[in-house]
Amino acid sequence: MKQNCDVLIIGQGIAGSCLAYCLLQQGFDVQIITSHTKPNASKIAGGLMQRVSGQYLSLPKLIQDHFDEAVSFYQSLNTFFDAPIISSFPTYRILDESQLNIWKKKRTLEPYKDYLGQHLQSITVQGKTTHVGVDIYDSYSVNTALLLSLFSKYFLEKKILSYHDLTEKDLIIHDHAVQCNTIKANFAIFCIGSCLTEWSLFNDFPLINSKGDMLSLTLNQAENRILQYDKWLIPIDHNHFKFGSTYSIDPTISPTQSAYNNLLSSLSFLGYNDITIQAIHTAHRCTFSDYKPSMGFLNHSPRIGIFSGFSSKGFITAPSLAKQWSVLFPNLPNQSLLINRFTNS
Ligand SMILES: Cc1cc2nc3c(=O)[nH]c(=O)nc-3n(C[C@H](O)[C@H](O)[C@H](O)COP(=O)(O)OP(=O)(O)OC[C@H]3O[C@@H](n4cnc5c(N)ncnc54)[C@H](O)[C@@H]3O)c2cc1C
Repeated sequence: MKQNCDVLIIGQGIAGSCLAYCLLQQGFDVQIITSHTKPNASKIAGGLMQRVSGQYLSLPKLIQDHFDEAVSFYQSLNTFFDAPIISSFPTYRILDESQLNIWKKKRTLEPYKDYLGQHLQSITVQGKTTHVGVDIYDSYSVNTALLLSLFSKYFLEKKILSYHDLTEKDLIIHDHAVQCNTIKANFAIFCIGSCLTEWSLFNDFPLINSKGDMLSLTLNQAENRILQYDKWLIPIDHNHFKFGSTYSIDPTISPTQSAYNNLLSSLSFLGYNDITIQAIHTAHRCTFSDYKPSMGFLNHSPRIGIFSGFSSKGFITAPSLAKQWSVLFPNLPNQSLLINRFTNS
């Protein structure tokens, strides 16, 4: 591994991977240090990408601003890695009573009408259970584990990735550089997701970690669509699916029996009974109090940067923001996402 570089990326989830990849494309000398043992929300995430969001069927501006660029980023990776990173699937949303009313109000309005089906549908699951719902348009799934492993392989081949659980004592911050063990970098950018709360450098920032659980399973009957209710069923490959959601503020990282039971009963409610569970995974997603990601440098340590807080939409916002930042780096494309919006320190 080289000892000097322009940018040291700490953490290789979707944020660190996208930023490292985009900075490399702009000709920067990049090194990445990530952990084998710390949680990686990106690997277990559903990888669901759609414009319509949450129980209010809203179209958040942050998502609309970055959606197209994210889709084209992953499509370019389909070619670059010669692998099915992003796929488009028919998507159905089962509506409860309150969502039914929201849908009735929004479905004919601009811009909702482009993304919400216009007609209520009867959705039959596995030939038996029937629900009422609508089509959701412009919906994709990213194979997150495949993407992360291909990025790791690519960075390892370039000899710019190493594995280590960094702690504060590994980092020495100088006026013009950051020393991290044997690496000296002009800038160190933290892309460590929910683990930001472990670092005193970020004590001042209003961070909330929400826990989520994701089942990995195969369906023993064919299915080729994304199905959403309060949780999502997302096709990965060859009848292999993910099913889960993020929902609780809970600092523990292990999956619980009650979360497992809850996912199984939701699958059963939807009509999926003939299934084989491979695993349950749990992770935290990192959210700032205003639900927007943060990028930029600390006022009190201008060699230390952050690219984090992607909450439940990291697969939509991280690629586009990474690309925009890499073009202007170290300057920022977007002052509204400055980490210093929370503090004057
Ligand atoms: C159950 C669940 C489902 C989700 N589904 C979706 C979805 O369908 N669509 C979507 O867009 N988003 C989804 N999300 C949100 C998405 O996962 C996050 O927005 C995104 O993964 C955050 O990426 P990140 O790179 O910031 O953090 P992470 O992916 O957590 O990556 C952080 C990296 O930093 C490393 N690290 C941490 N501490 C250290 C250290 N001290 N030293 C070295 N390395 C360290 C970790 O090992 C890890 O590799 C989901 C989240 C969860 C939990």
